[in-house]
Amino acid sequence: MQKQPEVMEKMMSLCKRRGFIFQSSEIYGGLSSVWDYGPLGAELKRNLKEAWWRSYVYGRDDIEGLDAAILMNPLVWMASGHVTSFEDTLVDCLSCRKRFKVEHVTGKICPECGGALTEARQFNLMLKTHLGPVEDSASLSYLRPETAQGIFVNFSNVLSSMRRKIPFGIAQTGKSFRNEVTTGNLTFRSREFEQMEIEFFVKPGTDEEWYHKWVEERFGWYISLGIKKANLRKREHAKDELAHYAKGCTDIEYQFPFGWSELEGIANRTDFDLKQHARLSGKDLQYFDEETKEKYLPYVIEPSGGVDRSILAFLTDAYTEEEVRGEKRFSLKIHKTLAPIKAAVLPLLRNRPEIVSLARAITAELKDNMKAMYDDTASIGRLYRRQDEIGTPYCITVDVDSLSDHKVTVRDRDSMKQDRIGVDKVKEYVVEQLKGAV
Ligand code: ATP
Repeated sequence: MQKQPEVMEKMMSLCKRRGFIFQSSEIYGGLSSVWDYGPLGAELKRNLKEAWWRSYVYGRDDIEGLDAAILMNPLVWMASGHVTSFEDTLVDCLSCRKRFKVEHVTGKICPECGGALTEARQFNLMLKTHLGPVEDSASLSYLRPETAQGIFVNFSNVLSSMRRKIPFGIAQTGKSFRNEVTTGNLTFRSREFEQMEIEFFVKPGTDEEWYHKWVEERFGWYISLGIKKANLRKREHAKDELAHYAKGCTDIEYQFPFGWSELEGIANRTDFDLKQHARLSGKDLQYFDEETKEKYLPYVIEPSGGVDRSILAFLTDAYTEEEVRGEKRFSLKIHKTLAPIKAAVLPLLRNRPEIVSLARAITAELKDNMKAMYDDTASIGRLYRRQDEIGTPYCITVDVDSLSDHKVTVRDRDSMKQDRIGVDKVKEYVVEQLKGAV
C-alpha cells in the first residue's frame, strides 16, 4: 500500500506531464485554484459529461436537457438565498496573514504559525461582476455559484414547451464559480469549476421515495463507470448539518488520497426554490395536474455532481502500478467510455515507408469512429508505456509481417493480450471491443 500523499503527488505529476491538467496562466506563476484541462484532460472531460448526458437526457424519457447562461438577473440570487447566506465564517492570522474557515481552527490560535487570530467574520463566496459600462450597484451581477438556479427559473418554460407532466427532471452541465477560501488538492476545490446537475420535479408526498431512488441511481452510476465500490460511500447529513432549504441530503463520498470527501450531493430541496422564485418574480410557478385538477408547487430532488471532482476520482481510481515480468508498469485502467484516446496505431519500424503508410491508413479509418492517434516517435516498448500511462484501451502495431499477411497486432491495455487481426477487420474489431464506449 502506497502512502496516500505520494499517490496525490504522482497524480499531479501525471496530470501535468501527460497533458491532463495544467495550472491556469502557468507562465505568469499561475492563478490560485484555477485550472486548465490539457489535450487529454479535455477529451476525458468531454467523455465524462457525455456519459452523464447519455445516461440521463438520452437514456431516460423523463428528463430534458438545458443550457442556461452563467449570468443571471441578480434577483435570482436574492431569491435563492445566496446573497444573504452563501457564506463562510473566516478568521485571519494576525502574524502570518493566512485565512482559515472557522471550523478548521481550534481556539484562537493559528494552526500554521501559532499566532493570534482575528474575530470571526462572514465572507460571501459569490464572485461579483458588473454588466454594462457603469460600475455601480445597479449594474452588479454575479457569476453563478451553482447551475441549479438556471433550471429553476426555466421550470415553466421547459414544462410548457416540452408538454411535460410531473414527475420529470431537467439536466444541465456547466461552469460555476465560488470564491473558495480553502484550496489545494489539485482541482478538488476550484474557484471555477463545472457541475452536472439534475433538478427532478415530483409531487409532494412522493419526494422521499424519489430521493432514495436518486441516491441509489447516482451511486450505481459511478460504479458502472469503473469506480471501485470500496472507494465509494454514502453519507447522510445529520439534521443540524442540512442546508437551510433541504429536507434531506446524502453525499456520495470518494476515498481520495487526502481522505473521504464529497463527490456529489443528492438533496431533497422541497419546494424552497420554486416558492422563492414565485415570491420574488410574482409569477405563478405552480403545476396544474390535469387528471386530479390539483394545483401545487412540485418538490425537487437534486443530484448535484462535480465534473472536476469526478475526473480526479476517476483518475486516482484508475491509476495502477504493477510488476510485469520484473518491470514496473504504470497504467491508467480507466473505463473505455472515459479513456481520452481509444486506440493508438504504432508502426514497429518508422523507416519503412510501406509500414508507415499502412499505419497511417488504419489510423485514418479509426478516426471516423473514435479519437485515435498515430505515434512513431519512440521504440515500440516506450510507445506502449506511454499509451498505458494515459489509459488507451487498444494499441495496434503494424510490423514487417503485416505487409505480407495483411494482419496487425491489437493489444488490450488491461489483459495485455495480443490478437492478430486482418487489416480490413481492425476497425470492426476495435469498435466491437469498445462496445458502446464510442
Ligand atoms: P463542499 O462542502 O465540498 O464545499 P458543497 O456541499 O458546497 O461542497 P454543493 O454546493 O453541494 O457542494 O455542490 C455540488 C457539487 O459541486 C459538489 O458535490 C462538488 O462535486 C461540486 N463542487 C462544489 N464546489 C466545488 C469547488 N469549489 N470545486 C470543485 N467542485 C465543486
